[in-house]
Amino acid sequence: MRATLMYGPGDVRVESVPDARIVEPTDALLTVTRACICGSDLWPYKSMEPSEKGRRMGHEFIGVIEAVGREVRTIKPGDVVVAPFAWSDGTCVFCHEGLQTSCLHGGWWGGDLDGGQGEAVRVPQADGTLVVLPVERDDALMPSLLTLSDVMGTGHHAARAARVGPGKTVAVVGDGAVGLCGVIAARRLGAEQIILLGRHPDRIALARDFGATDIVSERGEEGIQRVRDLTGGLGAHSVLECVGLGQATVTALSIARPGGVVGRVGVPQEPTVPDALPVFFKNVTIAGGPAPARAYIEELMPDVLEGRIEPGRVFDRATNLDGVPDGYRAMDAREAIKVMIEF
Ligand SMILES: [Zn+2]
Repeated sequence: MRATLMYGPGDVRVESVPDARIVEPTDALLTVTRACICGSDLWPYKSMEPSEKGRRMGHEFIGVIEAVGREVRTIKPGDVVVAPFAWSDGTCVFCHEGLQTSCLHGGWWGGDLDGGQGEAVRVPQADGTLVVLPVERDDALMPSLLTLSDVMGTGHHAARAARVGPGKTVAVVGDGAVGLCGVIAARRLGAEQIILLGRHPDRIALARDFGATDIVSERGEEGIQRVRDLTGGLGAHSVLECVGLGQATVTALSIARPGGVVGRVGVPQEPTVPDALPVFFKNVTIAGGPAPARAYIEELMPDVLEGRIEPGRVFDRATNLDGVPDGYRAMDAREAIKVMIEF
């Protein structure tokens, strides 16, 4: 079979790899029908330590089940399923607490395991990991359903971590796919004011469609002041930090009002939290981490199926497997918000 490997910065190749197969009795074998490239795939694309054997890529995918191991109970051949970006058993103490990214018997796609950016995947812990979709494999809702594997769940997690609720003032730092899904999540949870910090016209237009009430395109101290002006000088109750870079983190912490919460889902690229003293004196809570996307699929799926939310609009480009290297280039160059891979 063929799959995507990354060998070093800017070096993505589609190559032949050993066929995916069932190894453990709790595995399922899946043929990938849709996948995508993630903003977090761009971190290794910029800075990965070069590797001789390459790293398998992709952690967001939908597919059709080909076969299951003898202990799999809830998934069967022919099912159309979505996979969250981490696999988990569904039975341990953290899975029961809805924190599947900390599953005691779980793990992450890619690396030495199969990744989603390939023709087929061996899925460990199939019963706990996969969710069956009640639609055919080429349903028109596939782009939105695909976002449940990561970006929509991650935007929702940022909103939940930041305690978004009815009447709240929310600021979203970042106009990438996760930030845009954060806007959807904030509106869905009843926020009254949703301020998006971003500067790309196409992304701003989408954010307004998704429910953003205000746009702040200034950066640094100017952007911070603009958010203060928009919030009566107080700052936002809930800040969704969807970038992870130092400046975005400083901005997020600065625009949180006293007693507010920063829900961070951007993978931190700095080893420390900046502005510790002002953050301390404001009683700001810093929450968040990798989204337990698996915990949110059943909650968010009805909204997708019934058309209340359309997170699939974050895909502004589609390609086949051979076009994946150029998809990385396009996302890294910010020519595309998010690239979908159709098989
Ligand atoms: Zn678990």
